[in-house]
Amino acid sequence: MIKTDILIIGADPTGLFAVFEAGLLQLKCHLIDALPQAGGQCSEIYPKKPIYDIPGFPEVLAGDLVDNLMEQIKPFQPSFTLGERAETIEKLNDNTYVVTTNKGTQHNAPIVAIAGGLGSFEPRKPLLENLSDYEDNGVSYMIKDPKRIVTKG
Ligand SMILES: Cc1cc2nc3c(=O)[nH]c(=O)nc-3n(C[C@H](O)[C@H](O)[C@H](O)COP(=O)(O)OP(=O)(O)OC[C@H]3O[C@@H](n4cnc5c(N)ncnc54)[C@H](O)[C@@H]3O)c2cc1C
Repeated sequence: MIKTDILIIGADPTGLFAVFEAGLLQLKCHLIDALPQAGGQCSEIYPKKPIYDIPGFPEVLAGDLVDNLMEQIKPFQPSFTLGERAETIEKLNDNTYVVTTNKGTQHNAPIVAIAGGLGSFEPRKPLLENLSDYEDNGVSYMIKDPKRIVTKG
């Protein structure tokens, strides 16, 4: 059982900055994300796209924003469960919560924060029989070498 002060579902920009704010209050965080890396949409969909609406950054690539957030929270030593989807939450008699993922990993904390954006990311899978037998065992899903996108938005 992984124990922490604050359990954050979603290791996206919102979840990562929550680690910083909690760290200032000397609270430790553990993050769960269905994706294999932190950063949410910014890392998974458009890491090479410039963003223009982050305070203090006239222009920053989405991937660089995530790298900066990860650097900013390093002093607070957050831990991660990546590549697993939070599926159930149970309240215990001591008023703490247990969150269990689709792979059975259990996490316990008195506070659970949900930074889930539009929900957990799932790849669009080809319709092949027994595909799940090969996932994490030869079959993986990724956006291959996302190119720099030049449109604003
Ligand atoms: C192509 C594109 C361009 C964009 N450009 C901009 C822009 O220039 N400026 C801007 O401000 N916004 C932009 N956006 C929107 C921006 O990406 C989103 O508003 C932002 O990512 C939301 O951030 P978030 O931290 O709330 O969560 P998200 O980035 O949506 O991340 C949510 C995370 O939570 C995880 N999650 C959810 N539920 C679970 C669960 N049950 N278990 C485990 N993990 C879970 C998901 O896997 C995901 O990683 C753009 C979006 C797209 C698609």
